[in-house]
Amino acid sequence: MKSELSKEKIKCQCGKWTKPKEFNIDGIKIRGSECSACGETYFNAEDANQALIYNKIKNEVLTGKVAKSGNSFVVRLPKRLVEALNLTAGETVTISVENPRTVKIVCG
Ligand SMILES: [Zn+2]
Repeated sequence: MKSELSKEKIKCQCGKWTKPKEFNIDGIKIRGSECSACGETYFNAEDANQALIYNKIKNEVLTGKVAKSGNSFVVRLPKRLVEALNLTAGETVTISVENPRTVKIVCG
């Protein structure tokens, strides 16, 4: 449902109907709609809220703890980070080594 483009039609403040549109604001996809008459934009509340959560956390330095799970190691991520990245348990992420002390994790 999250990746589906909003199909909701919203009546604009100018009286015309808006057209569904996906916006990309700072790399974040936000569903919404745009009025072709006056250019007014409307954002999906859930997506806009997700963008706010992300913006709050994006410049913070967070810590995670390494733990052992069987023969593997897991890094526990702060709940706030998981929410900001919209991660779910069981999701596959891509991990690459940037340098001897840095790894990059790409979600989705
Ligand atoms: Zn309008």
